[in-house]
Amino acid sequence: MKICRYDEGRIGLVEGDLVYDVTAVKDRLPALAWPVPPGDLFIERLEELKPAIQAAKAGASSRRLSEVRLLSPVATPSKVIAAPLNYHAHVDESLADAQIHNNVHIAHYEGFKSPVAKFGVFLKAATSVVGAGEGVKIAFPGRRNDHEVELAVVIGRRAKDVAAADAMSYVAGYCIGLDMTVRGTEDRSYRKSADTYTVLGPYLVTADEIADPGNLDFSIEVNGEPRQRANPRDLITGVAELIEVASHVYTLYPGDVILTGTPEGVNTVKPGDVMHARIQGLGEMDVAVR
Ligand code: MN
Repeated sequence: MKICRYDEGRIGLVEGDLVYDVTAVKDRLPALAWPVPPGDLFIERLEELKPAIQAAKAGASSRRLSEVRLLSPVATPSKVIAAPLNYHAHVDESLADAQIHNNVHIAHYEGFKSPVAKFGVFLKAATSVVGAGEGVKIAFPGRRNDHEVELAVVIGRRAKDVAAADAMSYVAGYCIGLDMTVRGTEDRSYRKSADTYTVLGPYLVTADEIADPGNLDFSIEVNGEPRQRANPRDLITGVAELIEVASHVYTLYPGDVILTGTPEGVNTVKPGDVMHARIQGLGEMDVAVR
């Protein structure tokens, strides 16, 4: 099932190039009283809502996917977790480019089995999340602001100390993630957390539709120019192991997002540019930069 959020927070069932308005299923969610537990209630209840979503399609109005304003498919993630330096060729380009490492973020990981083993994972502010239709607002004009296209994993249920062997059963689904980044000396959590610096979309594809998230061709173009093209089969630390690492440190809640790392080809964008990202099975999206 492919589910989007659009316009002023409507819920859409995506089939082909049509969005069916199934917003009425929101009425099935329980009313919450303070203090609200962490996580995204819709993602938490998604499995049990699926039959209602399918039923709501009958009689629902529909619009073209290209004509709606897409919001993040996850409304309220408690956190966005991200893996640094998780493709060998991106490690190499980071070492070779002073504009990327700034003599601070050096990618060497000799003596460790992986960059994640050396550097761990990092957090992006949940307030950085937007959908494809909202676009990216450059927060650091005059500096190098880069696209990083990544496979994004959305957690479906509470997870703590999950072993990699069990990890995939905690996944609600997948989408495209853009880990927007200003290059510089500051900590990653600062450089990657500006408002709009995490783009998720175009919609959530539930895990049952993706047989192998470790093998999906993906790419990004800027103004039609190819920039990054890769496949998560080349991840140094794979999806299941990332969930193990993340859930060791953090309790994962429904709707939490794991950005799995970007491949080589990161490069700058500026206001007026349009990024076009696609991942096999997860759709494609245009994201404007302003
Ligand atoms: Mn990244």
